[in-house]
Amino acid sequence: MPDLDALLADLRAIETETDPVVVRLKSRDFFWFSPILKAALEGRRGDLVIRPRSEDEVLAALAACVHHRIPVTPRGGGTGNYGQAVPLAGGAILDLTGMDRMISIDNGVAEVEAGVTLMQIDAWARGLGWELRLWPSTKRMATIGGFVAGGGAGVGGIAWGTLRERGNLAGVTIATAEASPRLMSLEGAEAAQANHAFGTTGIITRVRIPLAPATPWRDLAIAFPDFDHAARFGLALGLADGIAKKLCSVIDWPLPSFFKGLEEVVPEGKPLVLAMVAPSGLAATRDLAGEHGGTIVAEQDTLFAEQHHDQTPFYEYAWNHTTLHVLKRDKGVTYLQLLFPPDRLLETVAEFRARFTDTAWLHTEVGRFSGRVTMSALPVIRWQGAAALAEMIATCEAMGIQVANPHVSTLEEGARWKLVAADRLAFKRRVDPWGLLNPGRMTSYVPVSEREMAG
Ligand SMILES: Cc1cc2nc3c(=O)[nH]c(=O)nc-3n(C[C@H](O)[C@H](O)[C@H](O)COP(=O)(O)OP(=O)(O)OC[C@H]3O[C@@H](n4cnc5c(N)ncnc54)[C@H](O)[C@@H]3O)c2cc1C
Repeated sequence: MPDLDALLADLRAIETETDPVVVRLKSRDFFWFSPILKAALEGRRGDLVIRPRSEDEVLAALAACVHHRIPVTPRGGGTGNYGQAVPLAGGAILDLTGMDRMISIDNGVAEVEAGVTLMQIDAWARGLGWELRLWPSTKRMATIGGFVAGGGAGVGGIAWGTLRERGNLAGVTIATAEASPRLMSLEGAEAAQANHAFGTTGIITRVRIPLAPATPWRDLAIAFPDFDHAARFGLALGLADGIAKKLCSVIDWPLPSFFKGLEEVVPEGKPLVLAMVAPSGLAATRDLAGEHGGTIVAEQDTLFAEQHHDQTPFYEYAWNHTTLHVLKRDKGVTYLQLLFPPDRLLETVAEFRARFTDTAWLHTEVGRFSGRVTMSALPVIRWQGAAALAEMIATCEAMGIQVANPHVSTLEEGARWKLVAADRLAFKRRVDPWGLLNPGRMTSYVPVSEREMAG
């Protein structure tokens, strides 16, 4: 049983919260998109929230938690989908949102504290002629630390790939959970140790992220006669190197009928492509859409929409926001995360639709993966139980579609090879020998014993 009173006494100089209502709220994320995770994680909670405002306070908080052997679950905006910010072993929730300083932009690389939201970074960078290369559709709430540690794909992927693509993350500073916690800078390839590690390999205090030149993006909604025409257009836009773009989502009917604010302009029964295109590419995009039978049904200024709470930038219908819009009206659905093979892209997409006509509504995101244009997808699927889900995953894999299962909460289960790489395990041993950081998420890590530490 952790000695919370002793911990709180040690943390006197740092903001803490033990109100059960606040602690319960800060123990949750968006795991409830998955009926499996909902059953597994509902009710799991930490014992207190610690809210550091500087790197010194992060180090002091970690020193106290290590001293009392109290688990620490880091948290940003709490928008993760895999329950990865839910404390599995109680203890402290380290809320990083107080770490919200922009530090510098140097040679097109921004350095910011980990708790800044992606929206804040983008607005600040735009004032200096730059913008974020990538952001999740949760840009308004998600933090950069949470995006690096728990997310990694999204708007911008059509131009820049994912956050794991070489060059998209310049570096991070982490705080370790050693007996005497310290800051470590991880630059370039080294930063991969913290990338999508759910905070198990150090608390990210700063992120250094390469930017792109600022562009005044235009949102387009384009209706198509059928899904095949929409998908062909989506791929053609992805391959059109002369058109600067940030988003291209191909969305099957009836999903657009769930999009509050857009449902009235989409013709009944018609699939939709949502795109973000630079003003210089608008005329070419209109021509390309026309050649594929598309009709532009709505257009707006993306940045104006995201700055006004009564408006919706079109990326807030894309990525996993599609599932959210459906869940608001139909609780009987969930989703999957797929990556289609670039070699047989449109054929495999068509096979998926034909095979799962009754159980899935397809929604693909055109993106670059390792230099090739392909489509990932977050189909909304009717929930028919865990066995049916497992069968669907197996069928997809047999069709050559990669599945990143979003109904699991550990790094091992979520990884392609179902394991954590040996160098990451070795790194964890250095920075978190007792396994206090987000315990239960890197299940193959065996903590160093007290006797070994003493020797
Ligand atoms: C509707 C919806 C749409 C979404 N769309 C996308 C999308 O387009 N792309 C995408 O990638 N994801 C998406 N997500 C998932 C999520 O919003 C993003 O991954 C987001 O970037 C997470 O940021 P956060 O600050 O909310 O992180 P949190 O949920 O707070 O944390 C995520 C993980 O990172 C860890 N963590 C947080 N901060 C730190 C830190 N400073 N140091 C170390 N570890 C830390 C947490 O312990 C947790 O394991 C979506 C989720 C929802 C609900």
